[in-house]
Amino acid sequence: MNVLDSELVVGALRNEGYELTDDIKQADTVLFNTCSVREHAEHKIYSQLGRMKFSKRYRPNQVIGVMGCMAQKDQKKIFERAPHVDIVVGTGQLGEIPELVDQARSNRRRSLAVSLGRRDGSRNQVAQSFESYDPLRDPEMRPSPFQAYVRIMIGCDKFCTYCVVPTTRGPEQSRPPSHIASEVRTLAGQGVKEVTLLGQTVNSYKHTEDGQLYRLSELLELIHDTDGIERIKFVTNYPRDMTVDLLEAVRDLKKVSRYLHVPAQSGCNEMLKAMKRGYTVEEYREMMERINSIVPRAAVSSDFIVGFCGETDEAFEKSMDLIRECRFKNSFIFKYSARPGTKADDMMPDDIPEDVKRERNNRMLDLQNMISEEDNAEFIGEQVEVLVEGPSKQAIKSGEADGDALKTQLVGRTDCDRIVVFEGNPRLAGSLTNVEVHDCTATTLIGSIVTREVQHGSGELLPILS
Ligand code: SAH
Ligand code: SF4
Repeated sequence: MNVLDSELVVGALRNEGYELTDDIKQADTVLFNTCSVREHAEHKIYSQLGRMKFSKRYRPNQVIGVMGCMAQKDQKKIFERAPHVDIVVGTGQLGEIPELVDQARSNRRRSLAVSLGRRDGSRNQVAQSFESYDPLRDPEMRPSPFQAYVRIMIGCDKFCTYCVVPTTRGPEQSRPPSHIASEVRTLAGQGVKEVTLLGQTVNSYKHTEDGQLYRLSELLELIHDTDGIERIKFVTNYPRDMTVDLLEAVRDLKKVSRYLHVPAQSGCNEMLKAMKRGYTVEEYREMMERINSIVPRAAVSSDFIVGFCGETDEAFEKSMDLIRECRFKNSFIFKYSARPGTKADDMMPDDIPEDVKRERNNRMLDLQNMISEEDNAEFIGEQVEVLVEGPSKQAIKSGEADGDALKTQLVGRTDCDRIVVFEGNPRLAGSLTNVEVHDCTATTLIGSIVTREVQHGSGELLPILS
């Protein structure tokens, strides 16, 4: 979501004549896009801001801004800790950034633009203070020119006890289907082949337009036939809303990836209850059965929090059991980080020592990696269809992909979101290509492009490089 927010803000600033620079010392304006989900992310921003303390001595006209979740959460505190910051802009005010930067430069006055707190008004007032901001798309700011994020919802109303998101991103609101469909068409016109629909609980999407109720399944159907779009993904799913209609849409709509990210967070009912996740581990298992029966071979990935308040060894082992049983494609594993303003921080002691959190984190990571590697090995000898993203990070770093290289290491993803690396012409970026897998690691399939053989006029067989 932050990648998308950065793209939109850069798009708006470019419209005003700004250009990006790689060198922070050259920048007239420095904006930090921030995350508050864990404390560590905030520390990083405060130390970066600390390093910019004397920056204005050399560039008196420089404007320094903090945008995003931390801005909404810490507000004035940011000016107190870093007096050289000029603007603090919450997730609901990103559209105001060009004007706020201009004002800060011309009158050197600080400004704070944030939304209402969740208890500072009626639900409607609070919701309205978080504006959805998706007007300007900037192709150059995307992870690749062929892939784009599309926000379909903002905010979250689930209030898991550990989580700061409902406060920093406000009430859950679904965008109108017609706006989303038109944005997808615009993106397709810009050459995008793969869209990823975004929402904190993307499968809770609901919007009524012209008397028709659209759930995520209907929305997928609405955008499925957009010319030029080859693949559609959506993240992140909430286990309780993984309904049959949605799974049938994933099964039946051929452009929709068979990849489902459905965070479990824990495999222990006491923990799930303390987290207020709204489901039991038995219900999570039933959901997995539903997925496996309706969308066979779907790849499911998860998030886990280790060391949540009161997590015993036994409770942790139950999470390990769930991973063994579900064999997730991958899991994002986080050590619990107490967040001010959340129910867990107010009511429950953060009682698991850091070294225990670290040890559980490492053990869980080892288990998940072992499973990912074993499951990836099943692909060895198989052909997979890959959407080519472009040269791999390694090829870019080594300079191998520079200039008019005819062959370099490329990276792409399968329909079920597995990363594949292989040698090929960089011009294949953006195309769907068949790759035969001959090796793997826990995170990557390694293969080579399949050369098709076609019948030539003379009856001679000629190899063709895909
Ligand atoms: N909306 C998404 C998650 C957003 S935050 C969902 O509900 O799945 C991404 C992940 O960060 C969460 O799934 C959770 O695993 C982790 N997370 C959130 N708050 C956390 C905290 N206080 N400490 C550690 N991990 C946290
Ligand atoms: Fe946070 Fe829970 Fe909402 Fe996800 S569903 S954003 S974890 S409150």
